[in-house]
Amino acid sequence: MHALISGASVAGPVLAYWLNRYGWRVTVVERAADMRAGDGGHAVDLFGPAVEVIARMGLADRVRAARTRNDSITLLRPGGRPITVATADLVGGIADQHVEIMRGTLAGLLYEATRDDVDYRFGTVIERLDGTSALLSDGRTVDADLVVGADGLHSGVRELAFGPERDYRHFLGAYLAVYTVPDVLQTGPTVAAFTAPGLAATVYPTLVPGLSRALFLARTPDEIPHDRRDPAAQRKVLRQLVGTSLGPRVSAVLDHLDAADDFYLDDISQIRMDSWSRAGITLVGDAGYGPGPAVGGGTSLAAAGAYVLASELRNGIDGALARYEAVLAEPVRHSRRIGPTILNAIVPRTAAQVWLSAQAMRLLPRLPGPVRNRVLSFGGGPAAMLDGLVLRDVA
Ligand SMILES: Cc1cc2nc3c(=O)[nH]c(=O)nc-3n(C[C@H](O)[C@H](O)[C@H](O)COP(=O)(O)OP(=O)(O)OC[C@H]3O[C@@H](n4cnc5c(N)ncnc54)[C@H](O)[C@@H]3O)c2cc1C
Repeated sequence: MHALISGASVAGPVLAYWLNRYGWRVTVVERAADMRAGDGGHAVDLFGPAVEVIARMGLADRVRAARTRNDSITLLRPGGRPITVATADLVGGIADQHVEIMRGTLAGLLYEATRDDVDYRFGTVIERLDGTSALLSDGRTVDADLVVGADGLHSGVRELAFGPERDYRHFLGAYLAVYTVPDVLQTGPTVAAFTAPGLAATVYPTLVPGLSRALFLARTPDEIPHDRRDPAAQRKVLRQLVGTSLGPRVSAVLDHLDAADDFYLDDISQIRMDSWSRAGITLVGDAGYGPGPAVGGGTSLAAAGAYVLASELRNGIDGALARYEAVLAEPVRHSRRIGPTILNAIVPRTAAQVWLSAQAMRLLPRLPGPVRNRVLSFGGGPAAMLDGLVLRDVA
């Protein structure tokens, strides 16, 4: 059996690894020109079953060794005293089932674990699909038994097989942006956090000395038309959304916006599909059920979803895609509730909420664990999303 997978980030390589173990031949096409392993992108979270999937791939030690070292978070308020909370207090009793890691680092480790057994083709996309016969951008045709879109929120396979993104995308009322900056804030190993009505920003250290990553979340009721391929237009959108209300330290971070070569801006939207499979074609991870970048636990869902899909395909395709969707139905439903909840928790709407969230942060370390988890909505948040998911044993 031959699988053609589009996308080599999280879901793609996890799926490739397990399918390969079950005797499939696997080709992965990836739009990026190469696998830029290392510290790239943004910090992502692996929770519970997703940590288990990584462990079953023999990567637990390497992934933990490469985790971020963001051990505390400090809320910096204009005119107010800083409030610092240990990250361990934020993840409460689930710290042993949680790893935060840069997405680029994770993707690099997953690629290393699969590159010898999987046919990776970088700088290549699927241009046309005729059933499971794919015309690639390098001019070759691949006649696969299964085609899988693991190509993220703006999936090309979804567009080709299921129609335009606008039919499935639900805007959650906010934008996010991320880019690398020199360590202008000099706040050391803590995550520096800032809030204002409708806005939140964090600046956190990377594993590269002297470099930090800045992440912005900004509410807006309406989408702002802009061209994703035009970085100058995207920078303008961020400046327009943020203004100066996060204070001079954040303005100093924004001063480095034009110099950043990894600037990324996107709307925070979910992909909602009633079904994400049809004869011989399916989607996995953000492509099929992205819960919203930065707010929904999408990385865990992508890793666990890929594992479930491979498990169901272990004995062939017949009925496997329907079983895959049935197993994931509840976690996917749950994931759709997380984004709006987390946005409410981390991006206050009003000045009163900004004040309240600072007080909550001050109180947090003093609350008993279960109460703290409830306050942080981890009880119903990404950590709990995969609670009911039972991973089938490895063959
Ligand atoms: C700024 C930001 C912050 C985030 N923070 C968090 C967080 O804190 N916690 C968390 O869990 N998640 C977070 N996420 C979400 C997380 O990154 C995703 O849920 C996760 O990476 C999904 O993995 P995936 O493999 O499904 O897709 P992706 O990681 O999106 O990978 C898709 C891959 O497909 C490739 N591709 C795209 N189009 C094509 C095409 N047409 N053909 C071939 N290849 C293509 C892309 O280059 C990429 O390699 C964040 C996302 C962003 C953008």
